[in-house]
Amino acid sequence: MYSHPLDYLRELKKWIFKIKIMTHTEAQQKSFTVRWKTVTCPQGERCWCRGIKCEEPVMYQEDGSEENDEYIVARYGEMTKEHAEYFVKLHNENIERNKVV
Ligand SMILES: [Zn+2]
Repeated sequence: MYSHPLDYLRELKKWIFKIKIMTHTEAQQKSFTVRWKTVTCPQGERCWCRGIKCEEPVMYQEDGSEENDEYIVARYGEMTKEHAEYFVKLHNENIERNKVV
């Protein structure tokens, strides 16, 4: 049934913790459906850059890995503060628009 012992462990974990451990692809799909926020790098508010994360951490696990990683939309050091805030604003507005009321 399971091709690798880790697959079995992963299934067991899901059952024990009643949580969905997502693959990277599933985490990416989920990231489109939740609100985002900008985050600062270790240099803080004064830095030119910002990263983008989901407001509520979306966790995933790589195949064959025991570690949970947080899905990051954009890592810091890649985007200016202005662009990151612009993308987050557009995305969150889009989420609000598409919300079923
Ligand atoms: Zn920075």
